[in-house]
Amino acid sequence: MSQTVRVRFAPSPTGPLHIGGVRTALFNYLFAKKQNGTFVLRIEDTDQNRYVEGAEDYIIESLNWCNIPFDEGPGKEGDFGPYRQSERKHLYKQYADELIAKGKAYYAFDTAEELDSHRKDHEANGKTFIYNWHNREKGRLVNSLVLSEEETQAKLDAGEDYVIRFLSPQDETLHLKDIIRGDIKIDTNILDDKVLFKSDGMPTYHLANIVDDHLMEITHVIRGEEWLPSLALHYQLYQAFGWEAPEFAHLPLILKPTGKGKLSKRDGDKLGFPVFPLAYKDHKTETISRGYREDGYFPEAVVNFLALLGWNPGTEQEIFSLEELINAFDLNKVNKSGARFDPDKTKWFNHHYMQEQRDDELATDFKTIQPELEDIDVNYVSMVVALIKERANFVSDFWELSHFFFETPTDLDEKAVKKAWKEDSAEIMTKVISLIDTISDYSVENLQTEIKGWITKNEIGFGKVMMPLRLALVGALKGPDVFDIMFMIGKDETKRRIDNLINTLS
Ligand code: GLU
Repeated sequence: MSQTVRVRFAPSPTGPLHIGGVRTALFNYLFAKKQNGTFVLRIEDTDQNRYVEGAEDYIIESLNWCNIPFDEGPGKEGDFGPYRQSERKHLYKQYADELIAKGKAYYAFDTAEELDSHRKDHEANGKTFIYNWHNREKGRLVNSLVLSEEETQAKLDAGEDYVIRFLSPQDETLHLKDIIRGDIKIDTNILDDKVLFKSDGMPTYHLANIVDDHLMEITHVIRGEEWLPSLALHYQLYQAFGWEAPEFAHLPLILKPTGKGKLSKRDGDKLGFPVFPLAYKDHKTETISRGYREDGYFPEAVVNFLALLGWNPGTEQEIFSLEELINAFDLNKVNKSGARFDPDKTKWFNHHYMQEQRDDELATDFKTIQPELEDIDVNYVSMVVALIKERANFVSDFWELSHFFFETPTDLDEKAVKKAWKEDSAEIMTKVISLIDTISDYSVENLQTEIKGWITKNEIGFGKVMMPLRLALVGALKGPDVFDIMFMIGKDETKRRIDNLINTLS
């Protein structure tokens, strides 16, 4: 096996990628990049019944949006292509034949109806039907282990439907290794003879997956816990072929916010947060599922929260850039137990990464989603963004936090009026207008010096001036610094708003 690390992300294009899948891709990416290895994308599309048009593009766009692009894969041909299993179809049959020749696999001709009736018979007796050593040679099943060579050949020649099954050994103990879970012992008597190949000429997931991992010289298989039950078969397939197996790491499940049960594709709509990286339109049902991108998340935030779902840096550090993740990532620090998904924490991460974005870029995004800003100079919007972004988790929070920078507030918050407007407020505010008239240097610093100086000199309570002033400018007792707002909207607009308030309330 080659010494350089080669890992793969091997999704089936059956619909949108669940964020658990993105986490699998991320862990593969981090592991590869830390060791200057190669991150391969392989599309496992052998099951044509489940194939969904557009799903592959969705997967690639998701990885690119997260900034974790693959090195080899569809459209980025390397030395191990093609990277879609449907384009590798011709490769698999010879491997199934090889296993038959070695006595490690056999033909089975049982029809779906026959298998179903065996299942029902067993159930009626309180048992579970398993196609393995227990049943396969009892004469009720139709396979090349019970038929003579001639009978088998006759069926094949007659074009009867068949599958090729793996011959699982009886009374053996398998010793499996997983980087995250340690040593695992499996009694082969509980394993069924999994189907490897079907008469439609298509391999099943198991055969195609092992053959491709071998041919693509994959050194580490990092995938979700749901594939752990397949590990015993995969190990045996490597043994049967006489190939060296890669190392395996099965990542823990991502659990619902309650901690009970796996976070499913349907939980997004039910629980009110996205479970997909990008919004996805189901072309059959026309329904649209939310995505992190469209919900206003920064890819850095998504990558950061996904990295901490199951991986523990061993320190208190929570904020990690992609570079830092690559340096710190270690499969040995991935937990066995499920990782609870915390939607509030994802917002916290987004808030953090919001502060790191450039104001002019945020301003452009803000302008795109807010029609009121169409004709407003982006530099002005950018200055507003700088003043409010520390209170925002998303660009979509901006308008609520900043509309008074762009238009005169029309609504007055009742509670705020009660708190800020007293009998003498009209008189004080009229004086404030006159004061503002005299201020020629209308900068934030000077406004602050002049107005605070005036308050002190006239021995008026600070709140008696600042609260009605804020109320006039914002329509409520919230928002950034009053002097910043005054400066931004300018002298005339400041005076107009104070005047409006006096007229409305007296
Ligand atoms: N095609 C499988 C999936 O959809 C790949 C599992 C694996 O990584 O072996 O997840």
